[in-house]
Amino acid sequence: MIGQLAGDTDTRSPVRRIVIAGGGTAGWMTAAALSKTLGRRLDIRLVESDEIGTVGVGEATIPSLQVFHRLIGVDERDFMAATQATFKLGIRFEGWHDVGKAYFHGFGLTGKDHWTAGFQHFWLKGRQRQLAADYGAYCLEAQAARLGRFAHLPDDGLRYAYHLDATRYAAFLRRFSEALGVQRIEGRIVEVRRCEGTGDIRSLRLDGGAEVEGDLFIDCTGFRALLIGDALGVGYEDWSHWLFNDSAVAVQTAAVDAALPYTRSIAHGAGWQWRIPLQHRVGNGLVYSRRFIDDDQARQTLQAQLRGETLTTPRVIRFQPGQRHEAWRANCVAIGLAGGFLEPLESTSIYLIQRAIIRLLQMFPADGIQAPDATEFNRQMRADFEHVRDFIVLHFKVTERRDTPYWRACADMSVPPSLQHRIDLFRQTARIFRGDGELFSENSWAQVMLGQGLVPAQHHPVTELMGDAELGRFLGSLQSAAEQAAQQLPPHDDYVRRYCGAP
Ligand code: FAD
Repeated sequence: MIGQLAGDTDTRSPVRRIVIAGGGTAGWMTAAALSKTLGRRLDIRLVESDEIGTVGVGEATIPSLQVFHRLIGVDERDFMAATQATFKLGIRFEGWHDVGKAYFHGFGLTGKDHWTAGFQHFWLKGRQRQLAADYGAYCLEAQAARLGRFAHLPDDGLRYAYHLDATRYAAFLRRFSEALGVQRIEGRIVEVRRCEGTGDIRSLRLDGGAEVEGDLFIDCTGFRALLIGDALGVGYEDWSHWLFNDSAVAVQTAAVDAALPYTRSIAHGAGWQWRIPLQHRVGNGLVYSRRFIDDDQARQTLQAQLRGETLTTPRVIRFQPGQRHEAWRANCVAIGLAGGFLEPLESTSIYLIQRAIIRLLQMFPADGIQAPDATEFNRQMRADFEHVRDFIVLHFKVTERRDTPYWRACADMSVPPSLQHRIDLFRQTARIFRGDGELFSENSWAQVMLGQGLVPAQHHPVTELMGDAELGRFLGSLQSAAEQAAQQLPPHDDYVRRYCGAP
């Protein structure tokens, strides 16, 4: 326990030597942020093994990555050219509400809120009076996505994220970090050595015999969790009773169509498929549950959906949804897959990495590791993970699909009480409230709940103040404003080519 550590060890010894174990997206994002911010005070080393490699997926992001890049001073054009990135306006969910139905979860706003009631209340009133179009018709991002258009607009007028090549992103951040003095050490970690008495990690022993000592160790070893799990024995909270998927098969294909400015998430009989368009290729995968289909069936399902030449051999990846009981224990902080995993339905893993890095920097234990820092870090990370978990579980629970045993099991499961409360509140009153520090906005919840087919019983009385004509004008003007603004944007593909010099 951290408390014992505080009593047993000299927690005041300053932290100067940082050892990052692992060089995937998590390891290199951590190295980049630490070196940019505190680099002059610290000696930062990163150990990774080419032989082991990285998980090699993780290509869809959310808008927060722009914030990370601004914080560390990454130029958007350089980043996009280096990672063959495209712009992403949201996710189109196909076959989730029911077979043959689709909706869009966009990053921006939908319609216009009143201070007493979100736009969904006005939309529901409009729907009741047969004055409203699809919910997405009032969202600029959804309209631009439908037309395959994109441009930067002033004042965050079009909210976006990126699709990126994960391997190139790690290489890009490596160059960035090495230029700031991070030392990369190639080698396989074969032993994690601990201090007698305190139990702190003292060093990592590599296969060639070298020993890498440090004051603070960041475990970015992916699902292996060599430091936080194997060495320190921090357990894992399993969420597979809410998230049935435990595997993915991933394959890359050549791009044959213009790159869409959104991710496609296509529901299948026992899982869902992603399609992520980059400049030079397309990332594809099927996430599934082995309780319902086996690896061969998953491979065949995915293969039947592919377009364009297959560039890689389909690769199966296993995972367990859940979270480490503590991400920070003693002198070790787990970031990335070592700290927990939620399936990539809403592209949140890189975001959770970013949150952990920013938190670590905010609580950086320069004068020695203190138990309250670790406790606070763990409390905040837990809140983030649980919030994202609830949002992801929502997509499986609220559905009208009953066509396969998988979807029937999803609809029948009981969900975390925090999520059940949100669903009940919305179902009854159409109300949504965003808690402090929560990632997903009211608009995200509304888009997904309505998109998945959850129709509230009531809506706010403030909507009664508008007569049919006024409500019709209000909704009509919002819809045409979104449509017209989207029409004026250039095709996404052309824009990317011009913006970051792709051939
Ligand atoms: P890894 O990439 O696995 O890196 C681990 C590192 O540790 C490697 O460098 C490895 O060499 C090193 N290592 C391990 N053992 C040793 C050892 N013994 N000695 C030395 N080095 C070692 N996230 C998103 O945000 N968006 C997505 O669209 C998305 N899609 C995903 C799809 C799937 C199927 C999966 C499984 C994940 C997805 N993710 C996504 C998550 C994302 O891939 C990860 O969060 C991200 O890549 C970070 O991984 P990592 O760096 O923690 O681990």
